[in-house]
Amino acid sequence: MRTQVGIIGAGPAGLLLSHLLHLEGVDSVVLESRSREYVERRVRAGVCEQPTVELLREVGLADRLDREGLPHHGFSLRFDREDHRIALTDLTGGSITVYGQQEIVKDLIAARFAAGGDIRFGVADVAVHDVETDRPRITFDGGELECDVVAGCDGFHGTSRGSVPAGVLKTFDHVYPFAWLGLLAKAEPSHEELIYTNHERGFALHSMRSPEVTRLYLQVDPRERIEDWSDNRIWDELHLRLATDGDFELREGPVIEKGITPMRGFVAEPMRHGRLFLAGDAAHIVPPTGAKGMNLAIADVLVLSRALSALLHKGRTDLVESYSDTCLRRVWRAEHFSNHMTTMLHRASDVDDYQHRLQLSQLRYTATSTAAATSLAENYAGLPF
Ligand SMILES: Cc1cc2nc3c(=O)[nH]c(=O)nc-3n(C[C@H](O)[C@H](O)[C@H](O)COP(=O)(O)OP(=O)(O)OC[C@H]3O[C@@H](n4cnc5c(N)ncnc54)[C@H](O)[C@@H]3O)c2cc1C
Repeated sequence: MRTQVGIIGAGPAGLLLSHLLHLEGVDSVVLESRSREYVERRVRAGVCEQPTVELLREVGLADRLDREGLPHHGFSLRFDREDHRIALTDLTGGSITVYGQQEIVKDLIAARFAAGGDIRFGVADVAVHDVETDRPRITFDGGELECDVVAGCDGFHGTSRGSVPAGVLKTFDHVYPFAWLGLLAKAEPSHEELIYTNHERGFALHSMRSPEVTRLYLQVDPRERIEDWSDNRIWDELHLRLATDGDFELREGPVIEKGITPMRGFVAEPMRHGRLFLAGDAAHIVPPTGAKGMNLAIADVLVLSRALSALLHKGRTDLVESYSDTCLRRVWRAEHFSNHMTTMLHRASDVDDYQHRLQLSQLRYTATSTAAATSLAENYAGLPF
């Protein structure tokens, strides 16, 4: 079997890359280890920054997003039992749209199949070969895919990054002493906007996926086990951490899903080795506090699709050569912003009162200074692609 671009992974990065390449007249095959049902149900990110939304519109993928997505023009920072609104649109002209990652994945899969795209689900034993030549191969399930280029879009635990010879990649890894317990509940959101809360018992986030489904998060110790968190215990803790002196009542509802995810920052440099290009979580991870993971994956493949189109149509190598540096500039901005949001909002168990006062001072400054709030809003709503 032969194609121009062999793509490993049908997450947002791999699927969008396949779509963008198709628009550029470049063929691809996507190899995915999970089933279609599994990837379409996998609940993860939900905040689309403005450049992501604009790109999805531009490439014909936003019909449902525009109908069902929830545009937000601000969010709340809650601390000392008070809300402080960060007015994204007033401060920067930007906004975000709440639309689940799995909905983007569904839209992408539908668009690829409607255009005759080739996505193979449930493929096992994927391995990458000969990326230092101009005839790389991907083997899987006893089959083989010859291609001009391989795109490793297989997430943090995928196989692509590991196929780069030792010593080529420099990796930066930061494990945070926090994890997020995420809860999806069939309950009307308790507030029309997201609420990021710094509480003495730890961080909490009120978010949503639709007018009927609420997404809530609690900071927990990474060693916690989800079996030890009954639904009642989670709701009790959410009530405590989200309590305010204002008019807010947390609405409860049946729990659809819950799980604990550890938090880390990770970057592999460079994002290219020969004819293997890493994109999205395969190359970098951010803690979710800045809502940047999926958005970065989308930014990477926009750069990659242009570079591959120039290479495969015109033999131009400048854009593939600058691919890694171009992406890494945005990646490190997002790493920094996500770290800033995480350290400002979470309580480490070894934090003394001095550090806590510093945290509150930073929160208060952000909430009351137009300059500080604008900087936060600009990063959150998304810097231009
Ligand atoms: C629990 C959780 C919550 C998150 N919340 C947020 C959030 O609120 N906001 C935000 O912006 N980001 C969030 N993220 C991050 C965001 O979901 C990721 O950054 C995003 O999924 C990256 O997309 P991707 O396509 O690069 O990787 P992925 O979505 O991980 O896709 C990789 C694909 O490759 C497949 N694959 C893996 N190995 C192989 C293999 N060997 N062969 C073939 N296929 C393979 C996987 O099954 C998967 O489908 C969250 C992540 C997690 C895990």
